[in-house]
Amino acid sequence: MSEPTRQIAAPKCPSCQAQGVDKIVSTPSKERSRAKQPWFYIIHCTDCGHVYNTISKHSFSQPVTPNFVLPKPS
Ligand SMILES: [Zn+2]
Repeated sequence: MSEPTRQIAAPKCPSCQAQGVDKIVSTPSKERSRAKQPWFYIIHCTDCGHVYNTISKHSFSQPVTPNFVLPKPS
């Protein structure tokens, strides 16, 4: 296997400058669907709690393309 070396950028907290995947964790939301699946995941810094992003679990598991488009923040 000659897989090219993948550059994995270490995430860095813009708030407290903590760097590395150990510092950036994802926490499932407390709200759960009826299937007991978290509605979304919160990506946040373990040091200061700065929230980077939220990931909608539903959008991942959607078998069909949603018929609406969320505006992308630029
Ligand atoms: Zn931080």
